Amino acid sequence: MSEQPAEKTEKAERRQFRAIKGTRDILPPDSALWNWFEQSAREVFESYNFRDIRTPIFEDTSLFARSIGEDTDVVGKEMYTWVDHEHQDLEGLRSFILLREPTFENLETVRLFNTQVKDFIRLARAGMADGTIPRTHHNERIVQDTSVVLEHYVREQVDGLSASIKDSIHKFEIGERITLRPEATASVCRAYIEHGMQTLPGNQKLYYAGPMFRRERPQKGRYRQFYQVGAEVLGPSDAPAIDAEVLEMLLTLFNRVGLAHIKLYVNSIGCKECRPKYVELLRGDLRKVKDQLKEDSRRRIETNPLRVLDSKLPEEQAIIEKLPRISEHLCDACREHFAKLKEELELRGVAYEGNWRLVRGLDYYTRTTFEVTAAGLGSQNAVCGGGRYDGLVELLGGPAGIKGIGFAIGTDRAILSIQEGGNLPKLPGLAVFIAWMGAKAYAPAVAIAKKLRARGLAVELPPEELKFRKSLGLADKLGAYYALILGEDEAASGTFTLKRLSDGQQDKLDESALIARIESELRGPNA
Ligand code: AMP
Repeated sequence: MSEQPAEKTEKAERRQFRAIKGTRDILPPDSALWNWFEQSAREVFESYNFRDIRTPIFEDTSLFARSIGEDTDVVGKEMYTWVDHEHQDLEGLRSFILLREPTFENLETVRLFNTQVKDFIRLARAGMADGTIPRTHHNERIVQDTSVVLEHYVREQVDGLSASIKDSIHKFEIGERITLRPEATASVCRAYIEHGMQTLPGNQKLYYAGPMFRRERPQKGRYRQFYQVGAEVLGPSDAPAIDAEVLEMLLTLFNRVGLAHIKLYVNSIGCKECRPKYVELLRGDLRKVKDQLKEDSRRRIETNPLRVLDSKLPEEQAIIEKLPRISEHLCDACREHFAKLKEELELRGVAYEGNWRLVRGLDYYTRTTFEVTAAGLGSQNAVCGGGRYDGLVELLGGPAGIKGIGFAIGTDRAILSIQEGGNLPKLPGLAVFIAWMGAKAYAPAVAIAKKLRARGLAVELPPEELKFRKSLGLADKLGAYYALILGEDEAASGTFTLKRLSDGQQDKLDESALIARIESELRGPNA
């Protein structure tokens, strides 16, 4: 007998859920490593007077399209975008209309089509009037034109017009297009503009930490929900010392967290004066060797020739090596900026390597670009990317003359590299497991747990009484530093037996001696 629909649904509901492809759970103890990494970043960034900024994880789609650039992989194919609206009625009606194939040979089909399109127009107008549907020029025009065409279609009985009516209705925007942020620079700039932060004194130094979303092909070090810790400096000055300070801060963090074999690559990709001339020169030279290039690079000759320099294909390397280099085509101001940056890096003891092919994937960069690679990551070895973006604030509708520079560290990759390097920090674990036995021991166990926790120690208090062996076994498995043994005898005498699990050494102590002992051993100079 076949399954009944209800049974089928029940079975489907009982299926085991799994994290969506390209996303993952960060579980303990790894999560402690993540917290430690992010906390280290906060401390280092704050020591350079950067402050935390928290922006929403979704924004208007056009914010990203405009800043990152339509012709990038991120905007072109990797964004999670949806139309945010409350008009299921209109959405449903639209799907019906789009399925209709009315013909004047069958007047009933035309009558139905006509009624549904009229309903659509009526609901669309009502939504625009009450502000639940975007009242854009685009939508106003669609509503207007569609009613004119519909009348004409019915009156003149022109079969062919139904297709153009359907096309217009398809293009009507029922809600706002919203995107899960693929990166945070655009959001930080949006917030800077929205809150008029240019009126605040000096440059704004901001940092953030959080998830980003890109629909990439998942592999080691590449996820669809990944995490970044980043920083941005926004303001009127573009002094090379700012770029250098940002890089010094970045490397201070990487040294502090023990990232192995890091390499900082630096380049300058010019400004809006010199870059377009270089891009044209590059395009011209690339056209000459077009036949020797593969599909992606060929396409980029026309759309974004700088991106050809990113190519990792072995057969293209010899050709790319012979292309003109931007460093030889920078304008005087850019050349001087880059030279000063290098001086500043030397002054600050920041080791770097020049890499003329480092153009970065996003459109908004100007002048300084940089990338940091680390060990243990295979082909996805970039842990951080960044650069200067002097025109971005203006491009997003903000005040003219505001400069910017920033970077984003891929936290997933930084953690992977630290784990692969084996140079893991010693993070505090469970300090005390309270092995209480007997009803009379319970109240003193609760009281001492509370006191130790108030001192910031991690304490595990079993919710139910356990046999002595089982209790100590569990303490061991949980990796506790001490077992605090509290039986009825101890409870009666107001003492505790403190056992260090690493070597089994134990002592009977009163409360103040107990606290002093634990604190001196776990918090002392050699802890
Ligand atoms: P981008 O904004 O592409 O320059 O990225 C900056 C950094 O974020 C990169 O260097 C990576 O470390 C990290 N990153 C970018 N995309 C991903 C991803 N899909 N999965 C994990 N990390 C990523």
